[in-house]
Amino acid sequence: MSRIHLYILLSLFITSCAKDVVVPSYKLSVEVIPATGGSVSPAVGTFKSGEKVELLAKPASEYLFKEWRGGLTGEMNPTELIMDGEKMVTGVFQKRTYPLSLEIEGQGAVDESILIVAPDGRTTNYPSGTTVRLLAKPVEGWTFKGWTGDVNASTNPLDLKVDKGVSLKAVFEKAYFKLNLVLSEGGSLEIKSDKTNETKVIQQSQAIDFEFGEKLTLSAKPASGYLFDGWAGIISDRANLIESQSITITKNADLSIFFAKMNSGKKLIRNEFSDESMLNFRSGENFIVWWDKRYDQNHKAKDVLKWAEFTGQKSLAWGMEPPVGSDKYFINIYLHLKGNEGAGEDVFNDNWGQGVGTDRFGMPYYAAPISTNRTPIYEDFCTIGNVPHECFHLMQYKGSNTYKTFNYSELDNRWYIEASANWFEASSTKINPVTNPSGTYDSVPAYLFQPQLALWGFGYQTNGATTWSRAVHGYGAQIFLLYLTWNNIVSDDFFGKSFYSKSSLSPQEYMYQNIPDLDNVFRQFALNIVVKDKIPATDAAAIVKREQLWTENYKAWGNAKANGENDDNRYAFKLKDEGTNGFVSPVEKPQAWSYSVTKLESTAAQNYRVDFVGDAKGNMGTASNFYLGYVIDQAGKYTYSNVPLTNSSGSKEISVPAGSIVYFVTVSSPRIFGGSEEFNYKINLVKK
Ligand SMILES: [Zn+2]
Repeated sequence: MSRIHLYILLSLFITSCAKDVVVPSYKLSVEVIPATGGSVSPAVGTFKSGEKVELLAKPASEYLFKEWRGGLTGEMNPTELIMDGEKMVTGVFQKRTYPLSLEIEGQGAVDESILIVAPDGRTTNYPSGTTVRLLAKPVEGWTFKGWTGDVNASTNPLDLKVDKGVSLKAVFEKAYFKLNLVLSEGGSLEIKSDKTNETKVIQQSQAIDFEFGEKLTLSAKPASGYLFDGWAGIISDRANLIESQSITITKNADLSIFFAKMNSGKKLIRNEFSDESMLNFRSGENFIVWWDKRYDQNHKAKDVLKWAEFTGQKSLAWGMEPPVGSDKYFINIYLHLKGNEGAGEDVFNDNWGQGVGTDRFGMPYYAAPISTNRTPIYEDFCTIGNVPHECFHLMQYKGSNTYKTFNYSELDNRWYIEASANWFEASSTKINPVTNPSGTYDSVPAYLFQPQLALWGFGYQTNGATTWSRAVHGYGAQIFLLYLTWNNIVSDDFFGKSFYSKSSLSPQEYMYQNIPDLDNVFRQFALNIVVKDKIPATDAAAIVKREQLWTENYKAWGNAKANGENDDNRYAFKLKDEGTNGFVSPVEKPQAWSYSVTKLESTAAQNYRVDFVGDAKGNMGTASNFYLGYVIDQAGKYTYSNVPLTNSSGSKEISVPAGSIVYFVTVSSPRIFGGSEEFNYKINLVKK
């Protein structure tokens, strides 16, 4: 049940290389007026273009900061300067007019404003009685501690009456912040600081103080029997599971570090291929995912396990039965390296592709090819590909293999096993089919391109398929199963339960017996699907997109016929503003449970007469059962009707509106449910 071929064809990677961009650097130089007035930090430096530099003027004790000149203007202190060129900045200081001596310790500035001028009105020569307001402003990463000297206080701002000589110091100190660490059971955390260059090992939850701006490298270290399971808080990552991360302390923060038990203990572990000395694993409720421990596949294993459990739970709820032995043992999933990415290096079988097999204990397992790259989860899903599809096969296994319902070795059964797994993936996972480039609807065009093949037509792994659309036609038949659930013709558990019905019928005959009036349902489906009607809008958009890709890339995707043409049989006949000039028959005759389309585009309003003559029997003698419906598409507005047939023949005159397309859909649904018998017809479209 492998689909690896599909992924090889889709693996047309386009790579691009980023150019090295050189960012220019600019020089900053600083001058101070008067020279004894104070200092400016930084005093000099080289900075990258666009970088923001915080400038702090620090007056000498008898001075005030007045203003910036040169490359910067204004009175703000501290202030920011953007380095968009070489910069020369002057810090201007001014001697106070009142007897205050103010020293600054640490990184900060003090704004001074005169609230009350001395009563005699003089503002020079240190007027007695001047009241100043002092506002301490720490730079980022520092805090104001308080005033010392003639006043000891932490009041900020401080109003100070200067009626005699006052000596003060404004004290700033570095800010510390708490990192509140919460460690789950099963591991420790290593913290390396760029300030101390020391590595701390944290074994239990605690809060630790770090200096503002301190850069920390954090490494999660799972204990034996555990796996790293992500971060939450200041680092948020429960999916990609990157064990080593860096943070810079700028505020109080919380950080949780998670570890998960490799063995959840729900079931027993049994694995024929290798053991825990070579492999890491993650287990859940029913499944266990293994990988060679020399490769970092923890995050992919988590994702695969999530989808496997999802598929298992959903299938069980729909009345499917778990695989033989899984009441006691986990169902094994192996992440093995892909053929072109070191398949020979890991411990698994080099010949594995993507698919489901049976181990020596008689239990099914799933072999999922993966790459060694650490790609984002979404990409992984596509690389691993179709996890829900393959896991649905695991859940079909007992039905197919123990009860022999729809056994895979019967060629005419295969389509249903594959199409129902595709149906499950598309209808249950809710992965956006438009943005998911290779999942969900990848093979639907194969069904749509070969509508004349029997519903169960399945060329994959046989010699019969000459082109890709014929090969995966059976996978693409998922569109019929989806149509049935989208339109509430069957309930969601129909396909799951069918495998456990122990029916000895083929799936198509089983459907015929269990779905009321399947004949008519299939006829309506054929008419609707030609114009993508009665399909949810997102799904219809995804299918249209896949059809376009198949049309544009048919050579790369293996859908070219021997003569180089696209093997696209969507329309048996394509007409524009004209009839067929007499009776015509399709090159490929429709098989059982199939359809065949004649497309007529009409520019002007026009009447046509359609004559239809179907053979009474197929080429192997089975009585034919034709239906001729048509749908008129007027800019997305659909009108349905049919040409009544008597003894497989009929005639009708039709008014075709201007600017419309008419699809005449011949549906063949004889009472046979296997083989490739053909049922010929001829059609004559006469312009009136
Ligand atoms: Zn499959």
